[in-house]
Amino acid sequence: MSRTRVAILGGGLSGLVTAWNLTAPEQQERFEVTVYQLGWRLGGKCATGRKEDESDRIQEHGLHVFMGAYQNAFHLVQQLYAVAPDPPFASWREAFTPVPSLTLIELVDGKPVPWIIDAPIMPGTPGIDIAPSIWGRIAQMLRWIQDGFLGLDGEPPVHPPRPGWLAAMARFLRRMLGAAQDAVASAGVWLLREALELAEAIDRIDGQDPREHETLRSLLGSLRNWIARHSAERLAGDTEFRRFFILADLMLTSIVGGLADGLILNPEDNLQRVNKLDYKQWLRQHGAAEITVDSAIVRGLYDLIFAYPQGQWRGDGEVEAGTMFVSLMGTACYQGAIIWKFNTATGDMIMAPLYEVLKARGVTFEFFHRVDRLVPSADGRRIESVEIGRPVTPREGGYHPLRTLPSGQRVWPDRPLFGQLVEGAALEASGADLESHWTDWPDARAPLVLQAGRDFDRLVLAIPPAAHPVICRDLIAQKRAWRKMSATLRTTATQNLQTWTTPTATQMGWTAPGMVGGYDISNLDSWADISEVLATETWPAGSAVASEQIWCGPLPCPDELPPASEHAYPARQLAMAEAAATAFLADHARFFFPGGFDANGPKPGVLVSRYDRANIDPSERYTLTVRDSTRHRLTAGGSTYDNLVLTGDWIENGQNLGSFEATTIAGMLASHALSGYPTDIRGVGAGALAKAMSGALPPEGRYVELPGDATFPGPIALDDTTMWAFVLDADIVALTRWCQASFDAPSGGEIRVLPMAGAVMMTVVDIGHGSFTEAPEMGWSRERELTFWIPAVQVEERGGRTVATRFDMVLPYLVLDNPVAIASGREIFGYRKQAGRVALPGDAGSGGALTVDLFATEPFGDATEERYRRLLTLSPTGATRAYAGESNFGAGARVLWDYLAARRGWNPSLALELQLLDTLVERRVPQLFLKQFRDVADARMACYQAITEITAEVTRFDALPGLVEFDMALANLASSPVARDLGIAPRQRLLGARLLFDMAITPGRVLWEL
Ligand SMILES: Cc1cc2nc3c(=O)[nH]c(=O)nc-3n(C[C@H](O)[C@H](O)[C@H](O)COP(=O)(O)OP(=O)(O)OC[C@H]3O[C@@H](n4cnc5c(N)ncnc54)[C@H](O)[C@@H]3O)c2cc1C
Repeated sequence: MSRTRVAILGGGLSGLVTAWNLTAPEQQERFEVTVYQLGWRLGGKCATGRKEDESDRIQEHGLHVFMGAYQNAFHLVQQLYAVAPDPPFASWREAFTPVPSLTLIELVDGKPVPWIIDAPIMPGTPGIDIAPSIWGRIAQMLRWIQDGFLGLDGEPPVHPPRPGWLAAMARFLRRMLGAAQDAVASAGVWLLREALELAEAIDRIDGQDPREHETLRSLLGSLRNWIARHSAERLAGDTEFRRFFILADLMLTSIVGGLADGLILNPEDNLQRVNKLDYKQWLRQHGAAEITVDSAIVRGLYDLIFAYPQGQWRGDGEVEAGTMFVSLMGTACYQGAIIWKFNTATGDMIMAPLYEVLKARGVTFEFFHRVDRLVPSADGRRIESVEIGRPVTPREGGYHPLRTLPSGQRVWPDRPLFGQLVEGAALEASGADLESHWTDWPDARAPLVLQAGRDFDRLVLAIPPAAHPVICRDLIAQKRAWRKMSATLRTTATQNLQTWTTPTATQMGWTAPGMVGGYDISNLDSWADISEVLATETWPAGSAVASEQIWCGPLPCPDELPPASEHAYPARQLAMAEAAATAFLADHARFFFPGGFDANGPKPGVLVSRYDRANIDPSERYTLTVRDSTRHRLTAGGSTYDNLVLTGDWIENGQNLGSFEATTIAGMLASHALSGYPTDIRGVGAGALAKAMSGALPPEGRYVELPGDATFPGPIALDDTTMWAFVLDADIVALTRWCQASFDAPSGGEIRVLPMAGAVMMTVVDIGHGSFTEAPEMGWSRERELTFWIPAVQVEERGGRTVATRFDMVLPYLVLDNPVAIASGREIFGYRKQAGRVALPGDAGSGGALTVDLFATEPFGDATEERYRRLLTLSPTGATRAYAGESNFGAGARVLWDYLAARRGWNPSLALELQLLDTLVERRVPQLFLKQFRDVADARMACYQAITEITAEVTRFDALPGLVEFDMALANLASSPVARDLGIAPRQRLLGARLLFDMAITPGRVLWEL
């Protein structure tokens, strides 16, 4: 059987993991693999070199570690060490140093102060044992908060959770609304205990019930707010407490946000929406305290992933909120230590043994092969050829890239092994850097052109995006998906500094854990003591080197690379990095190491050696995950060219942050796309695997945006709104009938809805400024509308009782005058919007009345013209009443609470009560719709039918003083018999309140779909 020839372009980790899987014994030698690699070594962003004339010191691209949640990366190293002929350590465990504690740097009076974070050693071994469930870890976090904040471990609850719950809730509610303080302490205790119990229960049953998630979200949100309210006074003076608060607030807000946005239950469906936000924005949106958002820990998270576009480390940074959340939840499920340092150079630890195993399996490595261009066929179906530049000529016998240290360890040199190259002497003399995009070294050999069918059957592109504008220029010109990806994926240059000193860190005065981040007054914002690697370097006894530190961070850089002809660019960037490092050693190092550094830099005799590096080359630049970029990543199998598979930390790999884990998964996905193997990728479910094999941007299912669309994607902001609000008695039987017809009947009883009471709200609103926040270019508009609201509950039968699980507003009639709002409301959310005209008391000619005309038929009959007809008249009687109540949202919403007391035929569940609390405190009003479209072939049928829910979030609220009396006349128009449908007396005297508010309507969810 002929073997499939696979050409892998790029020998970074992703390319090598692809080769590792394609040549696994399971593949039965089906593939003939060649790796084409620029320069003399493998590893790309994590390539390393040993400087032979300087005691074989290790020269890294930057600090490299594994997190204890890297299931696939650990598994790779474990498998590799089991088969490698000559690994640098006898076992994989010896290759790592677990790090259970880290240090963050806070600035106090302009001076850096260490903040030590202990992350306990967790059970299990990453790569070997199954990762724990996130619920167990959430419960653990809650226990930690319980111990730290409330100090209640082991004590009985102040309130028995039930049946006194409702009363406790009422007290809690009062407090939230600014009344009695007596329930304060017990509320927090209770919330914490309930949340803990629920998280543990969900963990036990691995619960996927959205109602439980919603309940937990509500509990934790209230708990977080409760903690915030009761912490304010202690935050300023008590450092320990402030740090505790920040951690607790970050944990709780993250979980609340993750639950609210469906990122735990259903990340696939929700990530894209959340990813439009930056992580800090998202934290704020979910109520995190500003002190948390600005904290060293959040800063440290951004530092960890160099999340500063253009290396602008002084700025706020940017990373997709959803991707970051998913990554943090994954990290929370670490096993063993949270961080694992390497005991030798990154390249020597991973790339060298990989290279040797792959060689032994028959993989061909073509070093000094620079991919210059991928040429697609004119019809865009496949890649025809690959043009490769060859700067030097290996001597007979080929190029063998590794060197052997006296210890026997096989290592990568920091420069080509010149003796193996025909042009070696000249190359060495020139000092040219063959890894550099800007090298002026002329190619010694004619270009190599690989032809599809002749030289390869399948191609794997393992070269990252900053290089694409050059090497994939034809693909970008040919395909929109490539243009989109190229335009949205951003990368940043980074900087690395290593120092070798005679004193140890402790001797220089540093006593905190030597894994440090969050230092926000330098671009070298993260550093680590990596002295364990000294044992693999060859410092002579007399050199007295006792310590090795690595410092790294983003390096300011343009998004667009200068042309290859700008040969001086690397020297300029290196000089900039060196200057920054020198300044760092003089201005900052002394804060950490006062015994070794002062304002002049290192004290005499301290610094033995120093290595500076500017990672500026296209493929060295760190892959960022800026807002709303992941959805433009192509998948392993979704290159849109039949014979091209993609891999790297830049493809859609489920992790989507630049890391070894993302890269390892990407390599496995590429192999799967080529061969169907492997199928078992930890953290990648069957759905995600299938998705990785298809195009990332399937045209089907995408809304085709065309000029003149009268609908735009949400959220919708409704600002400067004035509302006249009335409460009307209604017939509960009529309301029940309405709810059943709208929800119970179409869903076959899956969604059951009951009115809360025999009453409806009628509102007339005047929206001063409505806009689509994601289509700001469309401007803004005014809108007036009349709405009828049925406060309702979703119910289910539990043990013979009808239990209400969720509160919703049902909107049976909505009349408005804005065509875009009508189209968008109906098409996106499911609002039953009808066209009408609304006149308000202040309008000329209104006579102080409030009137609504509806485009309607009255009476039914073929001779009746459908036109605007008067639906509602509200004539002021001239009387007003004083209003003694509070003018806040909670006070207004308390009416709902009273409905609860008047409930009929159903019992509240815990979830409902928490949700009501959420409505009162967080001012979120959920709305429930039957969204449906008529079928084209038989318009009596629905081609789409769903029950949808959205949340309107009231962002500003004020009630104007005084109630105004009106006489109401509500017509029963034949096509919209409002009074009859809702059981409202058509003529009655009403009192109306006037309210001012701003509101946002955010994307919703489908509860049931046909
Ligand atoms: C400074 C720094 C520190 C990091 N620290 C960590 C960490 O602590 N933990 C962690 O998990 N992750 C870390 N990362 C991320 C991690 O290193 C990357 O995610 C990973 O190495 C990416 O591998 P890759 O195969 O996708 O790409 P690359 O490593 O970029 O591989 C691309 C390969 O293609 C080759 N190539 C490029 N252009 C051409 C061409 N024209 N022709 C032929 N070959 C070409 C390159 O030389 C390279 O070998 C860090 C990254 C950086 C930059």
